Amino acid sequence: MADQGVVLTEGGTVALEEIDVGAPGPGEVLVRIDATGVCHSDLHVIEENGWGHAYPVLLGHEGAGTVIETGEGVDTLAAGDRVVLGWKTACGDCAPCRRGEPRQCKRPPAARGRLHRHDGTELTPVLRTGTFATHTVVPQVAAVKVPEELPPEQACLIGCAVATGVMSVLETAKVWEGARVAVIGCGAVGISVIQGARIAGASEIRAIDLDERKLAQALHFGATHTEPGPVDFAFDVVGRRTTFEQALGLAGSSGTVVLIGLSPAGEKAELDLPALFAKRTRILVSHGGDHLPQEDFPRLARWSLDGKLDLAGMVTRTAPLAGWKDALDAMRDGDVIRTVLVP
Ligand SMILES: [Zn+2]
Ligand SMILES: [Zn+2]
Repeated sequence: MADQGVVLTEGGTVALEEIDVGAPGPGEVLVRIDATGVCHSDLHVIEENGWGHAYPVLLGHEGAGTVIETGEGVDTLAAGDRVVLGWKTACGDCAPCRRGEPRQCKRPPAARGRLHRHDGTELTPVLRTGTFATHTVVPQVAAVKVPEELPPEQACLIGCAVATGVMSVLETAKVWEGARVAVIGCGAVGISVIQGARIAGASEIRAIDLDERKLAQALHFGATHTEPGPVDFAFDVVGRRTTFEQALGLAGSSGTVVLIGLSPAGEKAELDLPALFAKRTRILVSHGGDHLPQEDFPRLARWSLDGKLDLAGMVTRTAPLAGWKDALDAMRDGDVIRTVLVP
């Protein structure tokens, strides 16, 4: 059967179409996508004019699959390996990588020229992965082995929402045991922040959302309160002026605000500098929780198998690849924590 993928064309048209997936080049692997989560960033790509990706764009970046073929020189993976795809890998060669901070890598490696439309036009995979497809090609460093026992519908969430949320707590903010935490925006990433705060041993986890259904879910995943209050760490998972300013207000003395959510172009917030100074507020920006797939995916998978991290509860529904549109609509309307597409 021909390969298929969900493609965004300049002008905003999105369609499931047949695509050509080439053989993996040196250091690359061909992966069959077994499951892919539908993440807000895909909506962001559609709504923000491609978000810097060259058209046409192959959507999807939260995938789990099976290695089908390995390119020359691949030594870490073999056909049949179960993997989660990482969009934030490290090149090993940029300035942050050289100074020993691969989590801040500026040039995550990408496989180029492997994915095309039938007419030969090259497709740009979202965040170097392109998982709304039957197959994709990525550098070997971007495919991380996970235990076979973890079902792909759950494993895929590790690739973006869960890594972003949990690692924003453990790596970006380094939340300490006993800390008070607030989470503004309780979708899949917010739920993952809540789970990360629980794992870190936070004493208070305040879930904040306009949607009552999300607050009920937040309590299920470990939130202790559903009203605002002063905290040590305030996570803005939404990225709007109102939510960011709310986070600044919630951060108590020497408190930390962590911006995770993607803001629309032009979004601005106001800072009260004397108040910032008096309170010694720290402001951190989290790019996907500064996660490093090689280190973090295996431990997240292990925590899930050990029952410390609830992935199964985050999968609200599954659908075939053709269900991409309903999945995006359901996310926009807040009906689901996650829809997972099963190509
Ligand atoms: Zn680098
Ligand atoms: Zn994502």
